[in-house]
Amino acid sequence: MATTTKKPSLAVFKFASCDGYQLTLLDCEDELLAIADRVDIANFLEASSAVSEGPYDITLVEGSVTTAHDAERLREIREQSKVLITIGACATAGGIQALRNFADVEEYTRIVYATPDYISTLRTSTAIADHVPVDFELRGCPIDKRVLLEVVSSLLAGRSPRVRSHSVCIECKRRGTVCVMVSRGTPCLGPVTHAGCGALCPSYDRGCFGCFGPQETPNPASLNSWLDLGDRDLVRIYRTFNADAKAFKEVSTAHERKDR
Ligand code: SF4
Ligand code: SF4
Repeated sequence: MATTTKKPSLAVFKFASCDGYQLTLLDCEDELLAIADRVDIANFLEASSAVSEGPYDITLVEGSVTTAHDAERLREIREQSKVLITIGACATAGGIQALRNFADVEEYTRIVYATPDYISTLRTSTAIADHVPVDFELRGCPIDKRVLLEVVSSLLAGRSPRVRSHSVCIECKRRGTVCVMVSRGTPCLGPVTHAGCGALCPSYDRGCFGCFGPQETPNPASLNSWLDLGDRDLVRIYRTFNADAKAFKEVSTAHERKDR
């Protein structure tokens, strides 16, 4: 009699985010069907109404932690997950909503909401790894679907994911794109930004604005010496989707102090 092997279970959970990362997974289309054939989708509300209790073999988490309830729910998800992967800038670096970490969040709620007393929020937006152990982090706003597929398929095959940690500049050189900074003086964060997008922006003749967050060994001080920008603009370019990522946070905070 033939024996059936149980498929690994896959769960996808969302915290504070725009859902763009889950949409990247849905955008995989043909590949998603192949993945769906290899796993039991236990929880993925954008793809299926079927919801199963844990434990889960592979859990993908998008979004940042912005409420006490988020933090508690995340701990429960971690307990139920063998492998937990964060997907995207919100989950790996707090996202654009981490701009609150440099401001007065109570002032924001007073300005934005008619009845701020109803708002229950933390003063910060923080990465998933600030709260629970994370097995793998996928960067980008949004993530690149090829990298996502590589990580999920490598886990299913039982091998290590082949994901590069060098800078966008290396990808730029590999595809033969003319450097926008050298040729036209366009500010570009490619030298300090994590690879993964295939150097998309320079290929369209514009500078990188760092949506994949810092690369493994960034040297923003060196890059800044080549950028013809004042302290205020330097703060601004490092404070976008990955403002709370350690390397970007340190450099923006240093230039904010100089600007005072
Ligand atoms: S365009 Fe930007 S990413 Fe490409 S080589 Fe120049 S500095 Fe690096
Ligand atoms: S070039 Fe930079 S800003 Fe553009 S997609 Fe890649 S990492 Fe993001």
